[in-house]
Amino acid sequence: MNLIELQQYTISEEFLRAEGILKQFDHCPYCESTRITRIRRSKHKCYECRKEWGPRRGSILEGLRVPLSRVLIAIKLFELDTSVRESAHQLGLSYNTVYDLFDLFRKSIIRTDNDTSFTLSGEIEMDESYFGGKRKGNRGRGAAGKIPVFGILERGGKVRVEVVQNVTGETLLTMAIKKVKRGSLIYTDKFRSYNGLISYGFRHMRIDHGKRFVNGKVYINGIEGFWSFAKERLMKYHSVNPRKFPLYLKELEFRYNHRHHDLYDDLVKCISEYSRVASIQ
Ligand SMILES: [Zn+2]
Repeated sequence: MNLIELQQYTISEEFLRAEGILKQFDHCPYCESTRITRIRRSKHKCYECRKEWGPRRGSILEGLRVPLSRVLIAIKLFELDTSVRESAHQLGLSYNTVYDLFDLFRKSIIRTDNDTSFTLSGEIEMDESYFGGKRKGNRGRGAAGKIPVFGILERGGKVRVEVVQNVTGETLLTMAIKKVKRGSLIYTDKFRSYNGLISYGFRHMRIDHGKRFVNGKVYINGIEGFWSFAKERLMKYHSVNPRKFPLYLKELEFRYNHRHHDLYDDLVKCISEYSRVASIQ
């Protein structure tokens, strides 16, 4: 959905309700009575217990100080990768409110797009990379203060990335077994943690960074492309709180995997799905 299409939803509350982001009420959330009615704009009232409630009741937007009429625009600003500061300015909201809202969008992504039920297959590229840390010179495997991330990319398909505790063979092989179909052809570099892929039923080709282009298909440019995509975007945030880093990483995985889609529609789907999951608990 682009900005012009978005314009038609001047009553975004109805859109939010249709998408399941706001709840539809057929009974009172306090006493379960079905003798309820709509009063004043979007408020409901129960004839039984006399209680009233607003449209956010029981939804993921409950407690957020964002007017419902600005939620759809906020999703658009998030889609366009607008900073929290600039979005707050555009929406006429406080920095903290927009920060919380964007956090909610990221949680929706991590909770609903992290579909572990499907596995990657075919031609696979695997690699690890390091994020964060202030010192430039101290790069490479096991660099202090940096967060190791393991990535698996299916050529012509999706990428899966995960923060890992370490980059031992055991850690990386466990992830490979979980996410990649046996028999797939896996390309890695010469790092020794990838020893053992063959004994778990994968086919394995190693690239030699020195002469990668000599060997035709033997390269890991796909996953390396993802690393530079991710690092370039994370640069914008200067320093991401390490505790929040997995949220940002999953957002980037989502953006990369949905780069050929309408990101807005996919985001709405995630937020709607998250609303459903969150209200079940
Ligand atoms: Zn009631």
